[in-house]
Amino acid sequence: MAATNFKIIGKWLKPYTKATINYLYIGGSNLMNLKLICFVVIDIGANLADGVFFGNYRGKQAHPDDFEQILQRSKDAGIVAMMVTGTNLKESQEAIELCRKHDGLYSTVGCHPTRSKEFHNYPSEKGGPSKYFDELLKLIQNNRDKVVAVGECGLDYDRLHFSDKETQRIYFEKQFKLAELSGLPMFLHDRNTGTEFYDMVRANRSKFSTGVVHSFTGTAEEMKSLVDLDLYIGVNGCSLKTDENLKVVSAIPLERLMIETDCPYCEIRPSHAGYKLLSNEADNSGGDGWKIPGLKKKEKWEPTSMVKSRNEPCMIRQVIQVLAKLYGKSEIEVANAAFENTRKVFFSDREEVS
Ligand SMILES: [Zn+2]
Repeated sequence: MAATNFKIIGKWLKPYTKATINYLYIGGSNLMNLKLICFVVIDIGANLADGVFFGNYRGKQAHPDDFEQILQRSKDAGIVAMMVTGTNLKESQEAIELCRKHDGLYSTVGCHPTRSKEFHNYPSEKGGPSKYFDELLKLIQNNRDKVVAVGECGLDYDRLHFSDKETQRIYFEKQFKLAELSGLPMFLHDRNTGTEFYDMVRANRSKFSTGVVHSFTGTAEEMKSLVDLDLYIGVNGCSLKTDENLKVVSAIPLERLMIETDCPYCEIRPSHAGYKLLSNEADNSGGDGWKIPGLKKKEKWEPTSMVKSRNEPCMIRQVIQVLAKLYGKSEIEVANAAFENTRKVFFSDREEVS
């Protein structure tokens, strides 16, 4: 069967195909032995409220708004839903507003550890930190149809110049309460904290149903102890930088894996260990005909191309490619496992993602 026909049929079937039956054989005279592969993917970490996705880099409009093209490229890659990361009160609000404009976009609500000073310094005339907390909770309660997790929250000891350890710990602790009150799972962040992140999560584990430690870069022991707490592990390009990273990631049980881009950050760069595991140009479709879009510098922007150094959701397919090699499984098997885990944790009560 010609590749174009294959693609058309794949497209037609995609909305009706559940991830659990991605392999489909159609009997009949014309379509005998045709194997259809439809990727169904959820990017659990996309910072889509960032101005760069609208052509605005550090306050300067460098090219036209191409958000619609980015969404189209994500759909072409099989992405059916994305979790837009909320990193503080204001950006969580903006993330929700963006999600309101587009089907398939969902949001987290929380305060990133590097922003915890904002939580602490919320003006007393506005009600101080306790009011900041109330505002986060209100944001969740008023937008339950779009908010799927509490976060991004956690500890980040690589960037203490934004918020010191003590401040980070105080406001991480508060966000377990947010999960407890809302009943939502958590979207967690941990960077270079020794056992402190783990200790806090364990001490508060009874307050939340489950969650994911996203953008995981820790050791195999850390990964295992988080899995033992019944949590999930999120993998993006930053989790695939070194040979040691690759070893850790390949040990994540498939039933605990989630995938993400953390775009516009964490692309897989040529200097990363994971890069050498990417499928080559001629064979990067994963079986469904997907091709990596073209790439241009922002100064030479074209609507049909991605922008250099601006990672975008469709590139989750490269994360899947590397994971497939590490696990010794097909891309579709890895994608299916991650989809099923994500659906179960963040979308179990949502018919539109099933
Ligand atoms: Zn993070």
